[in-house]
Amino acid sequence: MKASMPSSRGGKPALAAALGLLALASLAVQPAAAEERAKDLFGAKKLPAATSAQSIGFYSKGCFAGGVAIPMDGPTWEVMRPSRNRRWGHPAMIALIEKLSRDAAADGWPGLLIGDISQPRGGPMMTGHASHQIGLDADIWLTPMPSAPLSMAQRETKSATLMVDEKTHLVKDALWTPQHTQLLKRAASYPEVERILVNPGIKKKLCDTVKGDRDWLRKIRPFWGHDYHFHMRIGCQPGSPNCKGQEATPADDGCGKPLAWWFTDEPWRPNKNPDAPKARDLMTMANLPKECRAVLDAPGPVSVGAATYHGGGVPIAAAAPEPAAPPEPAAAAGSAPALPASVNAFTATPEIGIPLPRPRPGN
Ligand SMILES: [Zn+2]
Repeated sequence: MKASMPSSRGGKPALAAALGLLALASLAVQPAAAEERAKDLFGAKKLPAATSAQSIGFYSKGCFAGGVAIPMDGPTWEVMRPSRNRRWGHPAMIALIEKLSRDAAADGWPGLLIGDISQPRGGPMMTGHASHQIGLDADIWLTPMPSAPLSMAQRETKSATLMVDEKTHLVKDALWTPQHTQLLKRAASYPEVERILVNPGIKKKLCDTVKGDRDWLRKIRPFWGHDYHFHMRIGCQPGSPNCKGQEATPADDGCGKPLAWWFTDEPWRPNKNPDAPKARDLMTMANLPKECRAVLDAPGPVSVGAATYHGGGVPIAAAAPEPAAPPEPAAAAGSAPALPASVNAFTATPEIGIPLPRPRPGN
């Protein structure tokens, strides 16, 4: 397996060049109509907007500029499902993931397997995730990094470990270790991290077993899915005046009544309307903050490499000159059609206590 690594990584410069050409091609074609689905426009972007870093809008309704990619490999991490091209985030997010990987390794967790972060310019995705749109959300597997490097092919196909029994919604005790708890505690310890989404079974396991300092449990929030990975969300970063923060989590540990609700039948009843369109299928550019149009139209960096984060320094992509904001498309001015109420409800992460039905994420 090790022998396959150099060849699988040798194609990078050619890929970077190809992506550079793609970026130029996408500049030549000006997407226009405000009615165009935002997921198609953002999903087609291969490179970030080469401007200063800025998150715009809300986690489930926005975009971001000045994104950087986490390198495919580091001493203490590996990026999974690389073909999805979702290893992009606000530089503060990427820096924090790298820091978590180092701190976790020092704690005894061999390294992080990194799932989806964001598309290069964020925005709604073609598949999966209602959030992850402003570069401040990241999924991290609850499976530790194996000692032998994973080939690119293995990263596409390796299964994650399902930590929760789907019938009882309780953690599989044979799989849960003190290191899992420590990893979540470490992630919750950073002031930037505002909440961590986990399966209710995992929240319950922590509620039942964590002794001593339990203050960090308030950041650990139960949610559907999240049974093979956890979702780390950081707050709006400086330099993002149009970033909409989320309400702070309640001050208590969240182990009482709100958690008990998850162990009733109600959250697990089949979706009565499984074929209803999802927010991402309906969102147009007019539904996103108007600044996202400029993000979409901004030039990209010359290559993926130029926008890959290498710790500490200012990423090259962020050093590119700020493009002039394009004129506002006439159709978008003041005419944003309202999304159906059910869709608006779907886009925000529901607060515990008034959880809204949401299909289990597909990935
Ligand atoms: Zn997530």
